[in-house]
Order: sequence, then C-alpha cells, then structure tokens
Amino acid sequence: MTEHTRVLIIGSGPAGLTAAIYTARAQLQPIVIEGEPSSTSDQPGGQLMLTTDIENFPGFPEGITGPELMANMRAQAERFGADLRVNKVQRLDVGGRPFRAWLSGDDEPSITADTVILATGAQSLMLEVPGEARLLSHGVSTCATCDGFFFRGHDIAVIGGGDSAIEEATFLTRFASSVTIIHRRDSLRASKIMQERAFANEKIRFAWNTKVLEVLGDDKVAGLRVADTLTGEERTIDVTGVFVAIGHVPNTQLVQGQVELHENGYVRTGVGSYTNIDGLFAAGDVQDDEYRQAITSAGSGCIAAIDAERWLEALDG
Ligand code: NAP
Repeated sequence: MTEHTRVLIIGSGPAGLTAAIYTARAQLQPIVIEGEPSSTSDQPGGQLMLTTDIENFPGFPEGITGPELMANMRAQAERFGADLRVNKVQRLDVGGRPFRAWLSGDDEPSITADTVILATGAQSLMLEVPGEARLLSHGVSTCATCDGFFFRGHDIAVIGGGDSAIEEATFLTRFASSVTIIHRRDSLRASKIMQERAFANEKIRFAWNTKVLEVLGDDKVAGLRVADTLTGEERTIDVTGVFVAIGHVPNTQLVQGQVELHENGYVRTGVGSYTNIDGLFAAGDVQDDEYRQAITSAGSGCIAAIDAERWLEALDG
C-alpha cells in the first residue's frame, strides 16, 4: 500500500531532525526515514552518533555527547508529531510529482510525497589500502566513541590531520596507552585550539609526512606499514588499533543522475535549500562541503523546512 505525505524527510542527522521539528510544528506531519544501522554505526542519527563531546553546539555550556544531542532532537521531533521510522529509502524518483520513494523492492512505491527534504549526510572516507577493509571492526574503526573502550591499554594510531582526527585522538587517550597521529603532511589542518590540546597531551605522538601503505594482521590489527612521504623510506608502526579519520563523501546515491551536483559530488543548492528540482530541498552535509558543523547542519534543516512549508503554501494557492 502506497501512503502519501506532504513532506518526506530522508535522513536523521541534525539537518533531517531539525527539518522534522519545524515541519511537524507547522502541522505538516512529516515522515522521516531515519536510515538503518550501518557498518560504521549501530543506530541511525548520522555522523554525530559517531562523535564524542560536542563543545560548540550553542546552549550546552558544559558540552553534550553526539548521541545525547541526537536523542534530544529525536524526542523533540516526535513531541510535535513527526513520524520517525528506522528504515532506508532504497530508491527515489524525483522525475515527476508527487515524488516517489521505495523502502523495498516492490513495484509500487512505499511513499509518495509532495515535497522531499534530502538530508542524507555524508560518510567516512577510507584509506583504501590492503588490510583495511578486512580488519574493519577487528582493530580498524572509524568511530572512537563506539570502539575506544576496546583499546584500553593499547598502542593505537589515528590517521588524518583534521578536526576529526585530533578529536578522536584526544578522546582515545582516555583508553589507550599511546595514540600516534599519522599525517601525510607536516602540519595539521585541525583548528588551533584542538591542535594545542593534542600537542599538550602526553599520550599523543605524531608521525609527520607519513602515509599508510598497509594495515597488518591476520584476524586482528598487528601494525601498520607506512612510508615517509619525503624519502619513501618504509617502516612498521606497532599498533593494535587504527582509527581512520580522513574526511567524508556525501550520500547522494538516491539522487544520482536526477539532481544537479557540484563537481565534488555534493548536491547543488541555490537560494536557501532549493535544488534544481521543484519541490526537492536539500539540507546538511549532503549539500555542504564547507562548514559541516552540527549547528550549520541543523540551521540548514530549519531553512529547508521553511522553504518546503512556503513552497507547499504556494502550491495550495
Ligand atoms: P577534513 O577537515 O577534510 O580533514 C581530513 C584530514 O585527513 C586532512 O588532514 C587530510 O590531509 C587527511 N586525508 C584526507 N585524505 C587522506 C588520505 N587518503 N590519506 C591520508 N590522509 C588523508 O575532515 P574532518 O577532520 O573529518 O573534518 C570535516 C569537517 O568537520 C571540518 O570542517 C571540521 O572542522 C569539522 N569537524 C569539527 C569538529 C569539532 O569542532 N568538534 C570535529 C570533527 C570535525 P590534508 O590536511 O593533507 O588534506
């Protein structure tokens, strides 16, 4: 049975849930398809489910954890009547209205919608070196919050030089004996305050100008084979855990070939959250390769909700 909704929101990170709060309060009874557990997270809720303390989301002077913040947003959306579903949109057709979404392989769409807010976010980039995929969840991780506990007393490595890498490395010092940050250059991309925190942490070491060639180990991580990017010299770093934190790619699979994208693959939005498809709005990291903050993502979810609401009003005349 196909059901119809005025607003279909795809994604349950800060963008999707903020859009849900706003459209629910506007009495539009949005359906939110939250996503499903994945290889990097056992719950939907986007990348914040994988983050540790968030110190820069306004309103939380003592900070808040990512999962807590998402649980609060969920509860807030549900309080106003948003229909949240742990499920995954398998296929989306935005070629004509109403838009059509399939949650299964059936011929008939599961949901038709007057508007869609695409808030599918982005996901972790991987190194794509031998051993990485095989040892994922056996010592290789993309989520310090989820897996840090398992590395109590271990020597581990974090790959990358951005805020994610430094945040993860700092968090992981709660458990690990030592954390080696492996970075392909000789200076970090991370914000100054996070850099200073890492430099001051006695458990954190740095392997500068170093790239990972291979994750070693049969059924669990036994080390990393790395090379100096300047001299080419190879060596082994003895670690039993590897956290990959080298950035993200937008989740645009549902709209590939249907919606205008930027060259780097992010959805192109014009004014506010408008895409090139009338009635399709995009919010959060799927359309933002620049700011990528929880607060900007939430803000863009709010913009998308207001855009969708006004667009529906105009449609209704
Ligand atoms: P990012 O800023 O894009 O940094 C990615 C890092 O990984 C860079 O240092 C990059 O090296 C390195 N890298 C990329 N591809 C690599 C490869 N194939 N092999 C080795 N290294 C590679 O990504 P991010 O750290 O995930 O941060 C994304 C955004 O979220 C940023 O805007 C960041 O400020 C924000 N963020 C904020 C917080 C916070 O405020 N609490 C926490 C996490 C993230 P190069 O430097 O050489 O390019």
